[in-house]
Amino acid sequence: MATYIVLLGGPGAGKGTQAKMLAQELGIPQVSTGDLFREHLSGNTELGKLAKGYMDRGELVPDQVTVDMVRERFDRPDCANGALLDGFPRTVGQAQGLAELLEEKGAELAVVPYINADSEVLLRRLAGRWTCRQCGAMYHAIFGPSRKAGVCDQCGGELYQREDDTPETQRRRMEVYSEQTAPLIEWYWSKGLLVEIDGEQTIEQVRDELLAAVRDRLSAGLERSVAG
Ligand code: AMP
Repeated sequence: MATYIVLLGGPGAGKGTQAKMLAQELGIPQVSTGDLFREHLSGNTELGKLAKGYMDRGELVPDQVTVDMVRERFDRPDCANGALLDGFPRTVGQAQGLAELLEEKGAELAVVPYINADSEVLLRRLAGRWTCRQCGAMYHAIFGPSRKAGVCDQCGGELYQREDDTPETQRRRMEVYSEQTAPLIEWYWSKGLLVEIDGEQTIEQVRDELLAAVRDRLSAGLERSVAG
């Protein structure tokens, strides 16, 4: 049975960092719609051109376009055993689109961890974020700097700050999150899938709590399917 997990949390909650670690632990790919859009942007594809305006403003790319991009991603062979979704879904419409995609595959979501942190904490974290151009590793100027400024500890690649990490875009992304994405917390809670993780702990503490919660849910699901 393939394992599909949605990771929820506001911008700056540590989703990307945690998704990388969790996906590696579980042996499934991390599917980040933000990364997929950025790939299209740097490849200058039609989809990249369409997404750019929305991304620069901190707005969401329309649901249909986003769901179609995820459908294509799911068709690649590395998703045969499932995927860890990072930054998708971001609206109730996308959540419905995802439910349909999974139904077509005869699969369902295993668990939805929600990394919860106060919006003030999120804004502080977003401000100092640096990412490696080569391997995608993430650093923070104050909370987790690289050993050498501008250089990735892991692969020696160049670190850069995302263009959409300007103060105005950050604020807009936070508003868009509260208006359009936060309702998903309730949506998945009502389906019994939500597990809340305290996102104001250290990266390692969040990772441990997240991994324990996910393993717990996966083994409970496995027991149910054996018993049933
Ligand atoms: P992220 O890297 O997840 O913060 O995404 C960066 C930007 O890509 C967002 O501000 C949106 O403009 C766009 N984006 C990423 N994921 C989605 C999504 N699921 N739906 C709509 N737009 C998205």
